[in-house]
Amino acid sequence: MVATVAANCAIGVDLGGTKMLVGVVDESLGVLHRVQHSTDDVDATELLGRLGEMVDEALEAAPGEVCGVGFGVAGILDSKTGLIAASPHLPLVGVPFEALMGERLGVPVAVDNDGNTSMLAEWLHGAAKGASDAVMLTVGTGIGGGIVANGGLVRGSSGGGAEFGHMVVEQDGEQCSCGGYGHFEWYASGDAIGRAGQRALDANPGSALAEAAPEGREVTGALVTELAHDGDAASIEVIVEVGRRLGQGMVSIANIFNPQLIVVGGGAIAAGDLLLAPAREVVERDALASLGTNLSVVPAEFGADAGVIGGAVLAFEQLAQR
Ligand SMILES: [Zn+2]
Repeated sequence: MVATVAANCAIGVDLGGTKMLVGVVDESLGVLHRVQHSTDDVDATELLGRLGEMVDEALEAAPGEVCGVGFGVAGILDSKTGLIAASPHLPLVGVPFEALMGERLGVPVAVDNDGNTSMLAEWLHGAAKGASDAVMLTVGTGIGGGIVANGGLVRGSSGGGAEFGHMVVEQDGEQCSCGGYGHFEWYASGDAIGRAGQRALDANPGSALAEAAPEGREVTGALVTELAHDGDAASIEVIVEVGRRLGQGMVSIANIFNPQLIVVGGGAIAAGDLLLAPAREVVERDALASLGTNLSVVPAEFGADAGVIGGAVLAFEQLAQR
């Protein structure tokens, strides 16, 4: 057998609610090259055009043979029709995404929900490696999810399952980006940290939060997290409050799925234990006895690159053998 000169690569794409990230990923899951762009205020044509250019750039930058492109998309992909059936944060509803991208790029493509790709990466190579039962929560703009049960990924009858962000947690609650009311992600996502931060600022105009907040601009989860790490009491309180809400959702997950662990990824995990410690307290207190106490709540291993690596792992799994 002839030794390969360059490593085999995949292109991983993280198509999220606020940004799209494309990366060249090698077989040891190192990210070799990154391209990033905002997905705010773009229509479907612009978004798909730009995404095609970004993947072209990544394909050119890849040092080795590329097995294909794996997309993790923030939306529900109907496995029966091939269409994106719902996507609260992207203008892609009704788009035959896999067919379009396959045609545009001329290389093998694989597409899945971004929660599923993140779960796949963490399960095969990361924090949930070796687990028979695990749940992933990607806590960012919204809350995505993935489920491993009995040693396999669970996608539901048409591929739309594991949408934990849209569990109803509040009767007659606030309207969610999906149009429903009282959904989990409104109260426990990275955006929820920003909204709670805005309320804290409005209530405490003299606080560090008020001083640091850009004049007239929205408070973001990232800003609150940064201030909390710097020790600002009001910001810490905001993250603890959202961490408790996150824990409440985890109680339902623990009671339904009885996973060995819940892996938390997405942008909000930058808050680390400030967010996870209060969540763990609520899980231990409120889940059915052994289901909560035997459950680990851990941060994702792949951090900010999780989406890109998840896409690449999907490509390696589905396309490398073809
Ligand atoms: Zn919703």
